[in-house]
Amino acid sequence: MKILIKNAVVYVNDGRGTIIDPGYVAIEGGYVVSVDPEGSLASERAEPDLVIDACGGVVIPGLVNAHTHFFQTFLRGTGEGKELYDWLSGAVWPFAKAMTEEDFYYAAMLGCVEALKGGTTCIFENHYINTSPGNADRVIEAMGESGIRGILARGYADRNYDPAFIETEDEVMAELERLLEKWHESFGGRIRVAPGPLSPVRCTPRLFKRTAEFARSNDLHIHIHVAETKRVREGTVETYGMTNVRFLDNVGLLGPKAHLVHSVWVDRDEYRIVKESGSSVVHCPVSNMYLGSGVAPVVDYLTNDINVALASDGPASNDTHDMFEVMKAAVCLQRVARLDAGCIRAEDVFHMATLGGAHALGDHQIGILSPGMKADVVILDIDKAHIQPCHNLTASLVYNVRSTDVRTVIVDGRPVVMDGRVTFIDEQDLIGECRRRAKEVMRRAGVNPR
Ligand SMILES: [Zn+2]
Repeated sequence: MKILIKNAVVYVNDGRGTIIDPGYVAIEGGYVVSVDPEGSLASERAEPDLVIDACGGVVIPGLVNAHTHFFQTFLRGTGEGKELYDWLSGAVWPFAKAMTEEDFYYAAMLGCVEALKGGTTCIFENHYINTSPGNADRVIEAMGESGIRGILARGYADRNYDPAFIETEDEVMAELERLLEKWHESFGGRIRVAPGPLSPVRCTPRLFKRTAEFARSNDLHIHIHVAETKRVREGTVETYGMTNVRFLDNVGLLGPKAHLVHSVWVDRDEYRIVKESGSSVVHCPVSNMYLGSGVAPVVDYLTNDINVALASDGPASNDTHDMFEVMKAAVCLQRVARLDAGCIRAEDVFHMATLGGAHALGDHQIGILSPGMKADVVILDIDKAHIQPCHNLTASLVYNVRSTDVRTVIVDGRPVVMDGRVTFIDEQDLIGECRRRAKEVMRRAGVNPR
């Protein structure tokens, strides 16, 4: 399909602040083929199947949300006022145990609809509720059918966890093999699979070593929660006599394909280990604030040249997939924690939410609007009272734009949101079905949502 987006302000995101106004973006066969000023020869020769008049809107590369748990779309607002462990054991785990395979599909579909409508075109799903093997398959099916790009990190634990979710080492490895075989590079290469050992204390060193070998031999990413709270850091030291990053280094888990989610309670010497390994940090500022977990030393990571990707975390600790809100929170949290308004800029977090995520995924064909890149493109309506007058487009993207300002979304060259409506499902039917199912799971689980 050939698509021409015209009459647009094109925010190229090339690190040089390039803005083409008015400009156009031509797409063909899943790739951007040209990005130029309006009226150039290439735009006239495009002969598109679909012309989208951006009406002065801004075209940006799609955002990358580098960590979520889709099943938590059914759990928004629960566990209010609880810290991480009480929230997990009192609300998340009992609820998740009562979910059926079909519930996981609907929860994931709702999460994909929310993410796409908010301008996220690529998402890292950490699926760790494995009460039935089909749960992960159903989540992947929802991701694939929605049209989003993403990676499913299959979470697991073989120790220190709710007994309902504990698996043996061999069970974990067999499931990873099965998912890899069935789903890796599926849906035209849009969906990938990765191992997701839950956190240092929830897996044995043997399982970590097997995970590292498996990831290396199959060229996969590894996605893991790291030092989310002070209690997690202390628990890891008690268990292994080492902090989180040192332990992961010790079992061979770090490397350019490792995603260290949260990394809040990490010391200065650990920065060096992260840097030398080439691992990426995944920063979840809203979740860290919501659960009272702490402030990740993101400015230090950036100063040490560590790649940082940005994420919402699961929608029960956020409580949305709104990456525009996450970008703004990421700036404000660093500034207030360091009492320094100049320590981080809008450009830094927009980079984290696009190229930082792309780098973590090892996909160097997303995050910039230029010829040859994959056509993951978002059109925003900025002609709004909460945005205008706009003097600095990057600042407006981070501080003013909301997910509800997203008008059109294209992933892999296919329109998935047009004029604010998803193209692949009846959204109101989906919401009704999810509301009914979540209520039913709540009743079966006996969880008090307040
Ligand atoms: Zn998480």
